[in-house]
Amino acid sequence: MPNGAVNAWTAMWKLIEHEIVCVECKRRQHLAKSEAEFKHFPGCNADSFARSDSGSPSHDVRSTSRV
Ligand SMILES: [Zn+2]
Repeated sequence: MPNGAVNAWTAMWKLIEHEIVCVECKRRQHLAKSEAEFKHFPGCNADSFARSDSGSPSHDVRSTSRV
């Protein structure tokens, strides 16, 4: 089984009815909104795991250089 990443993902999430459920914080998100960022409850262990892009949206060089 070469799908280690997939196994890790499925260990972190459950699919109940048509909702994705985080097994850590039990927060749910409907599949229809799966493209949106999943909002974990504060302190959820899976929160950092799910955040694949580490880019900071607040780091806007153009707005700061205008001053
Ligand atoms: Zn969570």
